[in-house]
Amino acid sequence: MTDQENPITTTDAGIPAASDEYSLSVGADGPLLLQDHYVIQKMAQFNRERVPERVVHAKGSGAFGYFEVTANATPWTKAAFLNTVGKRTPVLARFSTVAGEQGSADTARDPRGFALKFYTEEGNYDLVGNNTPIFFVRDPSKFSDFIHSQKRMPDTDMRSNNAQWDFWSLSPESLHQVAFLMSDRGTPKTYRNMNGYGSHTFMWINAQGEKFWVKYHFKTEQGIENFTDADAKTMMAEDPDYHRRDLRTAIENKNFPTWRLEMQIMPFKDAATYRYNPFDLTKVWPHSDYPPVTIGRLVLDRNPENFFAEIEQASFEPANMVPGIGPSPDKMLLGRLFSYPDAHRYRIGTNYLQLPVNQPHVEVHSYNKDGAMRSQHSGNQPVYAPNSYGGPKADPEHYTDPSWATSGELLRSAYTLHAEDNDFVQAGNFYRHTLSAIDKDHLVNTIVGHMSQGVDRFVQERALKNWYQVDSELGTRLASGLGLAPVLTATGREKQNQ
Ligand code: NDP
Repeated sequence: MTDQENPITTTDAGIPAASDEYSLSVGADGPLLLQDHYVIQKMAQFNRERVPERVVHAKGSGAFGYFEVTANATPWTKAAFLNTVGKRTPVLARFSTVAGEQGSADTARDPRGFALKFYTEEGNYDLVGNNTPIFFVRDPSKFSDFIHSQKRMPDTDMRSNNAQWDFWSLSPESLHQVAFLMSDRGTPKTYRNMNGYGSHTFMWINAQGEKFWVKYHFKTEQGIENFTDADAKTMMAEDPDYHRRDLRTAIENKNFPTWRLEMQIMPFKDAATYRYNPFDLTKVWPHSDYPPVTIGRLVLDRNPENFFAEIEQASFEPANMVPGIGPSPDKMLLGRLFSYPDAHRYRIGTNYLQLPVNQPHVEVHSYNKDGAMRSQHSGNQPVYAPNSYGGPKADPEHYTDPSWATSGELLRSAYTLHAEDNDFVQAGNFYRHTLSAIDKDHLVNTIVGHMSQGVDRFVQERALKNWYQVDSELGTRLASGLGLAPVLTATGREKQNQ
């Protein structure tokens, strides 16, 4: 330490640096010297400060906290972190917008990511959800197409409402989520004032081997609050980091945000005959069919010390599931099991799980080795299995592979339709029964405003046909707002669903 109590500057190798301000030259006006290693290192490191931003969910914020079990969940899952009332598990949460880049404004209209990492005694459990219970598409084959339609166009490098509505109007399964997005829940006031949903259907397995299908709902205990379209737009200019600032400040002020975890739980056998396909990510399970059961509470009480190290490099992956929790036939979920770890290997590097924020809080005993930037290793442990020298042994008794019956045929197909399935019915129920009169006005104005900006007439007309099928009143109001003739009528199917 110097007299001023400041540490002495060093190179990244810990060697005392000669100067904080001056490079080494031959004479005051002379050429710079390659042996000035510290200055060269500064310039080189600066050029490498960024890792590729996430293609989706680039702008986000996060905080640490814990999850506490508040009710007995053992009838449905043997997951150890859920097995005792009062048990607390450390958690990292990251919230984000989807389409904007890292510097984009927080209050843009967009779904929000709601990603959780539970550092459990059986390894990391990641639940990587959104603030909506549903999604735009139901097959991972369409995911990159959907995102391409939302992000910047190849020629102009600007976003295009026309591309968005072109894709949506050709993908009617997106209507339910678009209705959410265009409602005021598309512009949450803060991260603290929105719900988080696991969105997919997952499997839970209890200690007796019984299986259940489940959905996660983290309900905000701060209450839902949204911006109107106008206020969200004003805030985009006033404070592009509004959500980031709000979360950080709330935690700094010890105003810790909390969410109540409610589960919808479906007996395994019900799936085959349920009125909606329960694995279709564009559908909810109505609460009246499967009433939510409260099992725990999420509390965020600690800000990151270093944003890059702990949030930018945080790597969530839906494939991280602990014993007692498994996937379901939800095709989007199955696609995401691959795509997330693949993204992390590209963005962060092969050994991203060794960074402190991603490291499990339990010991790792795998047979994987080496790779760029590996820092933890198992010493002289055998690097192959089976072996005779005391290497780790898998425990098939403890880990039951989650499974379900399939036909075994290879095919490309849409989901099996269940009795009341179509792409319009739940979006229609949302409009008719969930939205208040004011919510409906806002939805209509937002869709009309969005579709009026550079969207081709034929695309508007096609989108309108879909909205008519969602609800004829909604279709009529949108037609009038867009100056299109209300020539279409509700289909028999839609009337049946009203
Ligand atoms: P319910 O009335 O039982 O549940 C509706 C849910 O919608 C509640 O969770 C409510 O809780 C939430 N909600 C209320 N106002 C809005 C709003 N303006 N925007 C979005 N969500 C809102 O009805 P159903 O379960 O039969 O669902 C009807 C429709 O409600 C669905 O088609 C879906 O669009 C929507 N919805 C359903 C959910 C579900 O899991 N069943 C979850 C969220 C929405 P809260 O205000 O606490 O979010």
